[in-house]
Amino acid sequence: MSNRIKPLAKDVVNRIAAGEIIVAPSNALKELLENSVDAGATQIDVLTKNGGLKLLQIIDNGCGIDREDLPILCERFTTSKLKTFEDLKAISTFGFRGEALASISHVARLSVITKTKDSNCAWKAHYLDGNVVDGCESGIQPVAGKDGTVLVVEDLFYNIPSRLRALKSSSEEYSKIVDVVSKYSIHINDVGFCCQRQDGRGGKPTVDVMVRKGMKRKDRIRNIYGSNVANNLLELDIDPLEDYGLAKCQCSITNTNFDNKKSIAPVVFINNRLVVCDPLRRAINSIYAAYLPKGHKPFIYISMEIQPENLDVNVHPTKREVRFLNEDEIIDHIALSIDTHLASLDTSRKFMTQQVLTHKTEIGDEDVPIIKKPKLNVKKIQDFKPIDQMKKLYEHQMVRTDFSQTTLNTFVKSQVPEQSHVQGDSILVDNGTTLFVPEDEEVLDVDNSTLGTSIQVVERSAVNLISIKELRREVETNMSKELTHLFAQHIFVGIADYTRRLCCIQYDVNLYLVDFGAVLAELFYQIGLADFANFGKIEIEGGVDIKGLITSEIFGNEQLMDGMEPLGDEELGTLVVERFLDMSDMWGEYFNIEIEDRDGTVMMNTMPLLISGYIPPWSKLSLFLWRVINGVNWEDEKKCLAGVLRQLALFHVPASQKAADADTLDHVENVLFPAIKKRFIATDNLTGDIVEIANLPGLYKVFERC
Ligand code: ADP
Ligand code: MG
Repeated sequence: MSNRIKPLAKDVVNRIAAGEIIVAPSNALKELLENSVDAGATQIDVLTKNGGLKLLQIIDNGCGIDREDLPILCERFTTSKLKTFEDLKAISTFGFRGEALASISHVARLSVITKTKDSNCAWKAHYLDGNVVDGCESGIQPVAGKDGTVLVVEDLFYNIPSRLRALKSSSEEYSKIVDVVSKYSIHINDVGFCCQRQDGRGGKPTVDVMVRKGMKRKDRIRNIYGSNVANNLLELDIDPLEDYGLAKCQCSITNTNFDNKKSIAPVVFINNRLVVCDPLRRAINSIYAAYLPKGHKPFIYISMEIQPENLDVNVHPTKREVRFLNEDEIIDHIALSIDTHLASLDTSRKFMTQQVLTHKTEIGDEDVPIIKKPKLNVKKIQDFKPIDQMKKLYEHQMVRTDFSQTTLNTFVKSQVPEQSHVQGDSILVDNGTTLFVPEDEEVLDVDNSTLGTSIQVVERSAVNLISIKELRREVETNMSKELTHLFAQHIFVGIADYTRRLCCIQYDVNLYLVDFGAVLAELFYQIGLADFANFGKIEIEGGVDIKGLITSEIFGNEQLMDGMEPLGDEELGTLVVERFLDMSDMWGEYFNIEIEDRDGTVMMNTMPLLISGYIPPWSKLSLFLWRVINGVNWEDEKKCLAGVLRQLALFHVPASQKAADADTLDHVENVLFPAIKKRFIATDNLTGDIVEIANLPGLYKVFERC
């Protein structure tokens, strides 16, 4: 056998190319449909036989094709829509590559009957492999006909038997055709659509899609997807995101009452082009998972307009997929807007006594992330390049990147033993024991009786409170990219001064001094927001008498916040009942704090577990309780939740004391700072809490001089 390279015959090349563009009858139909829309048609009728393989006919009343253009109509790269490459940027029609008709003529028998308004008669031509065939001299014959174009595609893939064999049944191919016509008919509202098949011998065609020209979108959706969808439909105009190139975005989506278990593929149009956008589908489905009962599916129609220069439609031969710039940001924005809208619908919800509209999400539910931490993951950090890609490091700039390398703490571990305890004989946490809870939170139920606490983790549920979502968004808005990146990439060096809560971290070639009290308070607050209503649980053996604890500790220590007045016993008693007992549902549901009325004494039996492996300093519990009663705004839902979360965060920050015990140091280094590395969004207000104290090139200069 000869190994010499020979060019393929031209018609083989064309056929191969055509087969890539036209992979199934529905692709051909989509191209023809788009041509008709481009031609300004107001009525488009589709007729098929045998799933479009035997016959695919499309009749439109558009502008028609000029007689003079017919000879080159099916040549590759002939188009009336694009003249220069620059035009691609501003393309506003469906077609632009001039490939569709050419391709079809290479894999099927194609004929055209067309009439422009100005022409006295219609013209008919047959095409094969890009050229006009048959008929009279020129192959183009005058015939009688109406304004517009009839395109007839017969015997699709007659010359590619392997493709014919690979195609699904004709009924499946037909259902794909119906799908395309249906979706376009929802999107293009000023055009009437009809789709029929003629499969029985000589019988009447069956009509599967029929929408009249003047029909509104909602009625079209009703017509195609049924009344159940249409009756539960919400129209939503999403704010443009100009900076990211999203000029417009309109949705018709079902509400949270939509009772449907069938999965309906989302209808997504980008710049009027029907596309599939899996990341968008996933994002929206996961939003809905929080609102719909398990297994229920929404209907989604979205039409986006992206600035043409941000869009690449050439990534897929059939133009089915498109790429656009800032995809993540735009998808996040859309998903969040839908989320906010769905959350705002339920106006009946009442602060604190409401039943949260959550449905437990279960493992294995497709598309549904088991743990829903919508906005607080530090995902955006990926936008930054890892250090080593940012610049090449020279030897004198070498940084420690090996975490197993010794840190300062190893040398300065203080040996002061610490037993923190809370009065009222209820809690005794021996800080001498480290409590490490495995990462795998699903199966956790650790009962560590030596600690007097046991830890459980509950099944995760989604949060639909607008205030929490707003608070989450505030954190995001205040994010400092540089600082967040720094914390995500930092290497912990050691505690510099425990009393003043200073520690050193290294990033790149720089050494920073950080107020870890402030940073940890923010971390715990963010964890509180992210895991809201989904905390683990720390059980307090025997429970704590809230009022007893406050009176014994706070007044004794006079640790009052500015503006707080010491309260009389009676007043305090009333407040404890009001804030804790009367709100016990809220405490339990949102914070995993179990409040119990034990013969007239208000007891607290559990606390939320914010980070596995970290037990808050119990000595601060009384302060926490007191401030929750007296230092939180209880009038406004958002302020109240933010206030409680802030106090909870402050409570979790390691206690300030003269010297830290070994375990606190250990916790800061091995539990808390790793958590910062993993999931911390540094906000702008932390800028003052971190200062650069040295950089390696600078130090080298100093040493060179010595
Ligand atoms: P493209 O749409 O990318 O321009 P096509 O191969 O789909 O390429 O079509 C080639 C040209 O044929 C179009 O640019 C248009 O001028 C003309 N054309 C095709 N279909 C129609 C139609 N239904 N009505 C009017 N003109 C049409
Ligand atoms: Mg086209």
